[in-house]
Amino acid sequence: MSSSIPSRAHEPSDPRSRIATVAPPSLAVMRQGQLDPLRAPLHPLITAFDGARPLIAGPCSVESEKQLRAVALHLSLRQVRVLRGGAFKPRTSPYAFQGLGLEGLRILQRVATEFGMLSISEVLDPRDVESVAERVDVLQIGSRNMHNFPLLREVGRCGHPALLKRGFAATVEELLFAAEYVLSEGNPHVALCERGIRTFEPQTRNTLDVSAIALAKLQSWLPVIADVSHAAGRRDLLAPLARAALAAGADGVMVEVHPNPATALSDAEQQLDLEQFDAFVAAVGAAFSATNTQIEEVR
Ligand code: PEP
Ligand code: MN
Repeated sequence: MSSSIPSRAHEPSDPRSRIATVAPPSLAVMRQGQLDPLRAPLHPLITAFDGARPLIAGPCSVESEKQLRAVALHLSLRQVRVLRGGAFKPRTSPYAFQGLGLEGLRILQRVATEFGMLSISEVLDPRDVESVAERVDVLQIGSRNMHNFPLLREVGRCGHPALLKRGFAATVEELLFAAEYVLSEGNPHVALCERGIRTFEPQTRNTLDVSAIALAKLQSWLPVIADVSHAAGRRDLLAPLARAALAAGADGVMVEVHPNPATALSDAEQQLDLEQFDAFVAAVGAAFSATNTQIEEVR
């Protein structure tokens, strides 16, 4: 890997010094990179919130219009402004529910418009980038696709805002290089997402890497979102993980919410029901003060 994140000094006696003499270009994603962060257009996930840190919420998968409307109604009454919902699902088993595809995106588009919310959904295939970008406000590049370079380049070329998830076995350096692929094609609207990495701990699906959040914030000017649902894989840890992520500098949090998680077609164990979502927001506290205030008014 190149020496650009961070710079590593090589002694003249070090055989690697041969390659180190060719200075790599500074990266656009880095604080000291070529792109001036102050002049780069801000990501809509950040600009839409007047300084508040966004909460991105919604079901793992769009399953039906009724399901998504129930979630969106609940969330929008609590001032949540970004609705997530997977339509193209990257499932471990090819026999598991793969998502509703384009029909799922149409539902997401209709419901998000109806409730005045921004929408975010995953694009799996470079050939779908254009059609997904036409229907959602933010394209999600999933953990399994962080190393899909044709997809990264295509999202870069299309210029649409993107959320790039960290591969579950990727280093922070690799995440920043993946983001650089998107920026290098002319798209500066990238937010990073820490969603947990695979460790030896069997009681959680992944391990939320809080240090990666701090590190990415230190090295890059890109916003960093923490997806606590896919990190934990269980709903009882989401509030403390969200608090930890925000304390480490995360610019926002993503959480999965379903009207009836027991019947969910994907990630049933980790999605919050509507009541649990309210408890989650209350427990995360002042970081989402606008949302909390609204919840008090609704009750
Ligand atoms: C998702 O957010 O729907 C998802 C599949 O997450 P990840 O790519 O982080 O596993
Ligand atoms: Mn999920």
